[in-house]
Amino acid sequence: MDHVKDRFARGAQYIAGEFRPGTSGATHSVVDPATGRDVWTYETAGDADVDAAVGAAKAALPGWSGATPGERSGALHRFAEVLAERADELARAESLQCGKPLRLSSEFDVPGTIDNTAFFAGAARHLQGSAAGEYSADHTSYVRREPVGVIGSIAPWNYPLQMAAWKILPAIAAGNTIVLKPAELTPLTSLMFAQAATDAGVPAGVVNVVNGTGKGAGERLVGHPDVAMTSFTGSTAVGKRVAEIATGTVKRLHLELGGKAPFVVFDDADLAAAVRGAVAGALINTGQDCTAATRAYVQRPLYDAFVSGVADLMADVRLGDPFDQDTDLGPLVSTAQRDRVAAMVDRARGYATVVTGGERGADKLAAGAYYLPTLITGAAQDSEIVQHEIFGPVLVVLPFDSDDEGLALANDTPYGLAASAWTRDVFRAGRATREIAAGCVWINDHIPIISEMPHGGYKSSGYGKDMSSYSFEEYTQVKHVMYDNTARARKDWHRTVLGDR
Ligand code: NAD
Repeated sequence: MDHVKDRFARGAQYIAGEFRPGTSGATHSVVDPATGRDVWTYETAGDADVDAAVGAAKAALPGWSGATPGERSGALHRFAEVLAERADELARAESLQCGKPLRLSSEFDVPGTIDNTAFFAGAARHLQGSAAGEYSADHTSYVRREPVGVIGSIAPWNYPLQMAAWKILPAIAAGNTIVLKPAELTPLTSLMFAQAATDAGVPAGVVNVVNGTGKGAGERLVGHPDVAMTSFTGSTAVGKRVAEIATGTVKRLHLELGGKAPFVVFDDADLAAAVRGAVAGALINTGQDCTAATRAYVQRPLYDAFVSGVADLMADVRLGDPFDQDTDLGPLVSTAQRDRVAAMVDRARGYATVVTGGERGADKLAAGAYYLPTLITGAAQDSEIVQHEIFGPVLVVLPFDSDDEGLALANDTPYGLAASAWTRDVFRAGRATREIAAGCVWINDHIPIISEMPHGGYKSSGYGKDMSSYSFEEYTQVKHVMYDNTARARKDWHRTVLGDR
């Protein structure tokens, strides 16, 4: 743990290219959720730190927004290279603060982040707009796509590095500057990401990170008059609060909120593929994934075989030390999160059947925030465990009869972030992609993401897109420029005001 304390000895605020301590007067501890040991205690950001970070972003804005796309792209290419050189350090820090298996952070989080950085290095030169033209006989019109300004972003703890990347990259590729507030539990890799940007030649002040509480630093950032846009990823409940504050200062708002992804298995599906897909899709990142498979609806002929297949495979999953290459599943991010999940499963025992799991880890796992992979059946569609986000390694399975019923059940929660359908019938697949109301629908898979494609929610899962060129819609504003072509003082339309004078 000393290496973390040494690495961040100057503090947890990264402002204008320098680390410094927070001035709120309070501290927060990063805890290794696999062991319960303190990793690092940092001074949290107060109002003055948020103001300084926003000030640094504001000062850096003219230079960065005025740079050519080629210059910004060059800096982002170097940024991707620096991240690649630091891949091992990033993966270890991510596993330490989140408890996620090193296999996951080194094969998914870190390469995904590097690829995203490389993608936005290219995309920075491809901001699209409509062609210039004479849409009235006397004028030429064109559109300028401009950055929004200083962006204030707030991120959750489940994928801290990727969330930092998803927030920072499209914003700065489009010429904005940014202040990011990561979740209190997981400050490390966001700080490393911001420092790597500076080391790669992104000017100081373009990327700033403040680490503090949601109510303190978070609300200060969202309400700040010099912040032009708030981009928030987190729970729907906090998203609503953020929206209230942002609306008060008429900010542009991008909300990536909770999910409760359905996993619909039709009776012609490849059963083995669906069983593996459900277990992997439900347990990735110990289920702390906003797109995780949480509700499997299985058509009656496959239902029993699916339930027993999932139970068997879940029982085979190895929990353990995140740094052991044989570990499949780490702890949850904190004992508080583990206890929330356990309480929800315990309440479900009153109305449903816990087929496997439903317990904390014993023996060597007891000191950590572990929870066994859990399979639940027999819950009613309107029950808490089916309707509400669990954010833990828990899959609920329900049967359905007709295709109509399966698709209706899939849509029957307030969320709409992601979904999957499992079938070998192209027409069933097509229908599922049309009728499921979610920002992403997978066919015969569940979880993969890709830098070129957008990620974002429908319904209570929020609005706006992360990743891909679609994210530029959030981080740019379009300006109509109209030139008079006539060079006449007397314009035809002046008649409406001045008559024939
Ligand atoms: P959370 O909503 O509790 O916290 C998210 C962030 O908001 C943290 O940085 C927190 O400090 C901050 N915050 C809390 N209160 C605030 C306030 N009043 N004002 C401003 N900021 C405040 O979420 P979490 O527990 O960190 O993360 C889990 C949630 O994130 C889940 O609901 C999950 O589905 C969601 N999530 C969504 C996506 C997506 O892309 N849609 C991705 C990852 C996680």
